[in-house]
Amino acid sequence: MKLVLLGPPGSGKGTQAEKLSKEFNILKISTGDILRDAVHSNTELGRRVKEYLLKGRLVPDEIILDLMSQKLGNLKGFILDGFPRTLPQAIGLEKRTDIDFVVAFVLPNTTVISRLSKRRVCIKCGAVYSLDANPPLRKNICDRCGSKLRIRDDDKKSTIRKRFLVYKRETKPLEDFYKKKKILRYLDGNGSADEVYRRLKKLISNKV
Ligand code: AMP
Repeated sequence: MKLVLLGPPGSGKGTQAEKLSKEFNILKISTGDILRDAVHSNTELGRRVKEYLLKGRLVPDEIILDLMSQKLGNLKGFILDGFPRTLPQAIGLEKRTDIDFVVAFVLPNTTVISRLSKRRVCIKCGAVYSLDANPPLRKNICDRCGSKLRIRDDDKKSTIRKRFLVYKRETKPLEDFYKKKKILRYLDGNGSADEVYRRLKKLISNKV
């Protein structure tokens, strides 16, 4: 299965990608995770993209397309979380491979903003928690590896606003792009991660 998950920041794409990836043993590729890792490890890529991430701006298409072309190789199946995010990226992806489904997460802005402000991530292993829906057992400590949790740099209030504007301007138009190709499916992203996951599986059931 070749699947793209599309949705605003905080819509739950990453969580759902992780669940699908585990259950069906399909590789999940999250550009946000790859870029954050590169920044933390201070690699050449990390140094090139750091400022974009901090400011909630999109990393230039050439850098992303280069990165994805290495990651995708000749993979027969994948779940893409956070890519494509612009029309040139969607066109670049289309040139490389066919996509089965694009799932667009639908939920109100107020819900996603509230989710982002409650998101905490582990500084070491990258595990993601929600203070509401999925809190750590010990305050600010990762259940998985015992390291400290923190707010993602780009989940600060001013950056969240910027990321939303960028999403609306650059990424939302991809819905029309994929609608025309008849591979777009809308997913109600409200509710718990398990509820959304059940809906998601139903939506793509003839492909997994
Ligand atoms: P995410 O974790 O998907 O919210 O991504 C975090 C940040 O990484 C974004 O705000 C962008 O700065 C950068 N980023 C991730 N994916 C892309 C992409 N496909 N194109 C450009 N920038 C990206």
